Order: sequence, then C-alpha cells, then structure tokens
Amino acid sequence: MYVILLGLPGAGKGTQAARLSAATALAHITTGELFRDNIREGTALGEKAKPFVEGGLLVPDEITIGMLLDRVKQPDASAGFMLDGFPRNLEQARALDEALSREGKQIDEALYIKVSTEELVRRLAGRWSCPQCGAVYHEQSRPPMKPGVCDNCGAALYQREDDRPEVVRTRLEVNQKNLQPLLDYYDGRGKLREVDGERDPETISKDLGRLIGIGC
Ligand SMILES: [Zn+2]
Repeated sequence: MYVILLGLPGAGKGTQAARLSAATALAHITTGELFRDNIREGTALGEKAKPFVEGGLLVPDEITIGMLLDRVKQPDASAGFMLDGFPRNLEQARALDEALSREGKQIDEALYIKVSTEELVRRLAGRWSCPQCGAVYHEQSRPPMKPGVCDNCGAALYQREDDRPEVVRTRLEVNQKNLQPLLDYYDGRGKLREVDGERDPETISKDLGRLIGIGC
C-alpha cells in the first residue's frame, strides 16, 4: 500500500508517519532521508542531487522520484510506504503518478492532517530563544519559569525572525497555496482522506490507521 501524508508545516505529518510506520509494515520515507542515503552511498542519482542539496536548492523532481522508485524496491518497503514531505505541489503529484503508473503502481491513499492556520501559528510561532546560552523555549509546550527570561542564565529571551507570528503566517499561506491543488487532485481521484489534526497524537494515529485499514 502506497500512502502519502499531506498537511501544512507543524500539522504533525512526521510524527504520524513515524507512529503509523512503527505500527505497520509500511516504510516511512522522507525526501531528506532519500537525499542523505543516495549521497552517502554515491549512487548516480545521489551525485546528481548533491549540488542542489549542498547549495540549499530544490532538487529537481525527476531526481527525487527516481530515488523514490529505487527506494520502493528495497525489502523493508515491500509492503509499501508512507511518504512524508513529497509531493509538495501539483506538478510533483502528477509526475509521481506517472512514474508509478509506468511500473504498474499507484498511490492508494492521500491522508490529510487538517490543522487550522490559527493553531499552526500558535504551535510554530511560540518559540523564544536565549541569545546567551542558546536555550529554546515554547510558550505552550516549554515555557520559561519567568516569562521572557532564560531559566539557565537569566538573559532576556528574543524571537527569531522565522518564529515571529506574522512571518509564520505568511509562510503558512504560501504553503496553503501549494497544498490546496494537491488536496483537490487527490480528492478528484477519490483518494483523499481527512482527519482533524487538532487532537492528541494517539487519537489521530487511531483515525489514520482506521482509514488505511490498519488497527493501531
Ligand atoms: Zn540562557
């Protein structure tokens, strides 16, 4: 069974993919892992991807998909995969479908972990960092004992540019623009399943497991 996980940054795709993969025989595949493994092993695709990865650039889709097709042939993925972080846009989804269909394969389920922008801003924008010792806090999940002050060294905490609510919100809006056509694409093929991602991880895993017919 080939499953892809969809959702905005912070929705918990990685967490859920890891949980479901541990509870099933499906391999958890991320693009980061594909790039790292191929570059380390010096495969032809790894050599092609290397300058992009090292330059912090987007790796061309045909390289990523080529790596995925190779990865799918490995023994631990014989029952299928749970793909997290790809496709990120409609072009990639189409290219992936074409490549899989050439091998007589297809994506079986697209699982969408839905979380509102407001909740994601709360999750992603709550981070505060210490300029002195580098400690990182979170307003909800790891608050400092005294607001705005580092527990370790007493320095005044600050918010990194990337952690500011307005910056986070803009980033989420850009991601949503890419995500929506993907959701429509899989929905049009009868493959989209949606779960409410604003609940505890166990409940979400149970729902996702049920959707793909695996109790966990
Ligand atoms: Zn500190």
